[in-house]
Parts: sequence; structure tokens; C-alpha cells
Amino acid sequence: MKTITRKSEIKNQIQELKSKGFKIGFVPTMGALHAGHISLIERAKVENDFVVCSIFVNPTQFNNKEDLKHYPRTFEKDAALLSEAGCDIIFAPEASEMYPDNETQETWDFGSLEYVMEGKFRPGHFNGVAMIVSRLFDCVLPTKAYFGEKDYQQLLVIKSMVKQKNYAIEIVGCPIKREASGLAMSSRNMRLSTEEINAAAFIYASLNKAKQLSATKAVKDILAEIVKDYEQNLQLELEYFELADAETLAPVEDWSKHAGVRAFVAAQCGPVRLIDNLSIIP
Ligand code: AMP
Repeated sequence: MKTITRKSEIKNQIQELKSKGFKIGFVPTMGALHAGHISLIERAKVENDFVVCSIFVNPTQFNNKEDLKHYPRTFEKDAALLSEAGCDIIFAPEASEMYPDNETQETWDFGSLEYVMEGKFRPGHFNGVAMIVSRLFDCVLPTKAYFGEKDYQQLLVIKSMVKQKNYAIEIVGCPIKREASGLAMSSRNMRLSTEEINAAAFIYASLNKAKQLSATKAVKDILAEIVKDYEQNLQLELEYFELADAETLAPVEDWSKHAGVRAFVAAQCGPVRLIDNLSIIP
């Protein structure tokens, strides 16, 4: 496994691999890797000839400076996990490499996707995500790129970005890896105490409760019940709990009007903001 930090070097390397007809699988990450990230690498490994993983804590997608400052950075451990999983190239550029002073920063339009949930609560976040992912795509030119459903709204934003830029890249959505408690794996979980980790399992339980209730109850009654549950939980501060169309993320009012529905949640647990989601009607 090779670690590359320069855009020019990764571009040369990719050009050489592509000239030989190799398929490139790409997994963009911000590092502090866990089994969720590794599941994406493993899928990419099966479906391609070469796997590239980027590790870059992207400053333009953080709307909260404290979150950026405290984001875990564990490069040595990440490299060991990637090597074990059979990753071929780590692309780990400095911020100045991805954002040179002389380059203008693009702005994107993702329509209604930008104004709900993560878009609403983290202004500018998806513009920053699209900016870095498109720059990484321009370097890695992957055949397929792998994204977790853990960040479901991000997955839809990336699909829209690929359409807008006409990239010949297949975007593959991968299932959420969870701890035994149901807590979705996340790099930010490293910042939680044992007590907070236990408390955070409530989030997945609330998604499952919504799924169970969906068999018998109206959307507004389910939301009212779940919000009440969170109000009684002193360790979690609910930011939003939504039942939304799986394609457009428009809020659901009537089950029968949507082909697919997912439940989405964001809650603060101690120092960390956690997100999760679950398919309610596939
Ligand atoms: P991040 O390093 O948080 O930017 O995540 C990099 C990629 O890994 C994104 O596509 C995430 O959606 C995905 N990912 C993060 N956590 C999980 C998880 N628990 N299960 C599956 N994929 C995940």
C-alpha cells in the first residue's frame, strides 16, 4: 500500500492504472476509521482492480469550528486498518493541496435537499462536501465510488453532483454498520464517554420504534410520540426527527403517497452531534 499526498502524483498513478484498463474503486473518508469505513473498502475491493481511500478532514464542510478542531485524527491506525483490508493507495493531501489560494471555491445548487435536515441545521455543509468530493473525483477518476447510508442525505447530494457534472462514476450506497447496541458507528463516537455511548443507543431504538409504529399509526402521531420520548431523555438533546421520502427527502404526511420512506434523526449527546437513519418503507 502506498501513501500519496500530492495531486500531481495521484493523477499520474491513476493515469497509468487506467491506461492498463484497471477499474478503480474509491472511498473518500475523513479518517479515524472504523468497521463502517472498512466495509466500504471491502466492497470496493470486491468490485474493482484497485482501491483508493482518501483521508482528508475537509475544513469547508464544518460549520462548527469546535467540531473541526476536535475531529479525531489517527493516521497511523487508519493506515494499518487500510493495509489489512487490502487498500492499494491512501490519498492524504494537506488542506493547501486541495484548496490552493488561487483557486475559486465552487458553489452548488442541490435544490430542496439543501433546505432540510442536515442542510437546514448545518448551513454550507453540503456545498463543502460537494466541493471536496468533486476535487477528489477529478484526481482519482474512479470507476465506482462508495458512500455510506449513514450519511444518507450526503449520498443523495453526491448523486446529484455527479449528474450535474456529468461524471462517468457509479455511486454505490452501502449499509450502515452498527455496534451491538445498535449505535451507528461514527468517528465522532470516540469522543463519547462510556455513559454517553450507552445513552446514544436510544437513537437507534427510536428509529426502530418509528418503524414499528408505522404499521398502525399516522405520521404526526408517531413524530409526537418520539419527540416526547426524547424530551424525557436527559442525556440526549433532539435536533430533529423526520419521516421523509427516501428519494426527495420531502417530509411525509401520508404513507400511501410515497414509494420509499426513511426516518432521520440528529441529536446532541454530550460533546458530540450524532445522526442516524433507518428505512421505514423500502
Ligand atoms: P466520514 O469519514 O465520516 O466522512 O465517512 C466516510 C464514508 O464512510 C462516508 O461515505 C460515510 O457515510 C461512511 N460511513 C461512516 N460511518 C459509517 C457506518 N457506520 N456504516 C457505513 N458507512 C459509514
